[in-house]
Amino acid sequence: MDKIKNYIDGILTTPYSNNYFNNFDPSTGGVFTMIPDSGAEDVELAVSAAERAFPAWSATSVEERYDLLMSIARLLKERLEKFALAESMDNGKPLKLARTVDIPRAIKNFEFFSNAITQFSSEAHSTDNVAINYTLRQPLGIVGAISPWNLPLYLFTWKVAPALAAGNCVIAKPSEVTPLTAYLLSELFIEAGFPQGVFNVIHGYGHTAGKAIVSHPQIKAVTFTGGTRTGKDIAAIAAPMFKKLSLELGGKNPTVIFADCNYEQMLETTVRSSFTNQGEICLCGSRILVERSIYEKFRKDFTEKVKALRVGDPLLEETDTGAIVSKQHFDKIMYHISLAVNEGGRVLCGGKAARLPGRCSGGWFIEPTVIENLPYNCRTNLEEIFGPVVTLMPFDTEEQAIGISNSTEYGLASILWTENLTRAHRIAAELKSGIVWINCWMLRDLRTPFGGVKNSGVGREGGLEALRFFTEPKNVCIKLN
Ligand code: NDP
Repeated sequence: MDKIKNYIDGILTTPYSNNYFNNFDPSTGGVFTMIPDSGAEDVELAVSAAERAFPAWSATSVEERYDLLMSIARLLKERLEKFALAESMDNGKPLKLARTVDIPRAIKNFEFFSNAITQFSSEAHSTDNVAINYTLRQPLGIVGAISPWNLPLYLFTWKVAPALAAGNCVIAKPSEVTPLTAYLLSELFIEAGFPQGVFNVIHGYGHTAGKAIVSHPQIKAVTFTGGTRTGKDIAAIAAPMFKKLSLELGGKNPTVIFADCNYEQMLETTVRSSFTNQGEICLCGSRILVERSIYEKFRKDFTEKVKALRVGDPLLEETDTGAIVSKQHFDKIMYHISLAVNEGGRVLCGGKAARLPGRCSGGWFIEPTVIENLPYNCRTNLEEIFGPVVTLMPFDTEEQAIGISNSTEYGLASILWTENLTRAHRIAAELKSGIVWINCWMLRDLRTPFGGVKNSGVGREGGLEALRFFTEPKNVCIKLN
């Protein structure tokens, strides 16, 4: 069985404990690689390596960092197919999705941030004729990056690329559920000739390896994407140490559909915004609010389209939704479906595990599920399920739609469908979320601020926000005479 390795001080290495645990292929339920069970000792080694590397790395020119990061992008491009296959096997997502979204976006992250750093500038303030202030933005030192399993390489590189571009050394931990592409990426860093110790990858459990990163005093900032509960634990450790924190957490996003929308576009996009990646995207709309005058029509058309989605072997081209990432997550989603039924929900389609023949007979698959007849404030409509499960709710007025949309503890993204321009702007301003998509979904421009409000997180990533997060501003004031 292949063993994944940590990447510390430029070398692929075994964990200090010498222990490993199983990595499952969710489409078969079988073990296909072994993951290092790393802990504080491994993090300590990585921090020492990063401390040695930082003075030289932080002093490299922007051009040097640009060249090195672009060479990672180029190598990734050359290995796109290998990475896509690894991502699909590790996560259960359709191979075609990994090939067209996950890995291309990881490439884009390196390209984008290597370019962004060449355009990064800081402020200057002329204080009457008395003084000039200018702001230096210097790298923080060693930063920690902890990422989740749903978009493994996509989100891992979304953190690593800007941190390195800004001149920091990085200790990164991918989710233990999907470590493979981060491991393959560390091989590319060796191939690209990255200086030793600048980028380090520690594999292992969150409560051991992850916690050791968060609590290490030499790690000056932590960028984390994952569940809200984990985010709270991380904040509790990091806050008393005055670490910089960026927390991208859970969501329970509303899709609000008005009768005046472009119906065909809305219908096609709402199927995608509900079930892409088995609904395991923090930006998926999981509560679909529909203006009452079109509710019956939408319910019929939407359910028909969802029933037509092909749940299947992630490696097959015709598959629309693949496997659920782990047995544990599969059980959680199934629990939520039974909870919805107990709360009075009517299952319009799905609601069951999907049984696949042959190679995938031991895998963890769930039929795309649509549920109605639930009040907006029941647990099903308040708690994040993070799977192929959506609820439908009719609404009568704009105020009601806004009220229901804002009624959860989350505030990551909202999706709004209307052709009424003034209404679109009016509602966008009222929605309590970090992102509002109007008549579209997942249309991303990497320059825009990305993040959530309320329990969906603190801070923004993306574009200049990320480069600002990974640098410390220092104001220099010069008196003119
Ligand atoms: P988790 O919070 O369980 O884990 C995220 C990462 O944190 C993993 O690498 C995990 O390691 C690690 N971790 C777990 N416990 C600790 C700890 N005590 N200290 C440090 N690190 C720890 O989230 P999931 O991986 O289950 O991801 C799904 C969640 O991520 C959903 O809630 C989803 O909404 C959210 N998400 C948010 C996004 C956003 O941009 N806002 C984007 C994508 C997902 P391990 O896996 O080894 O436990």
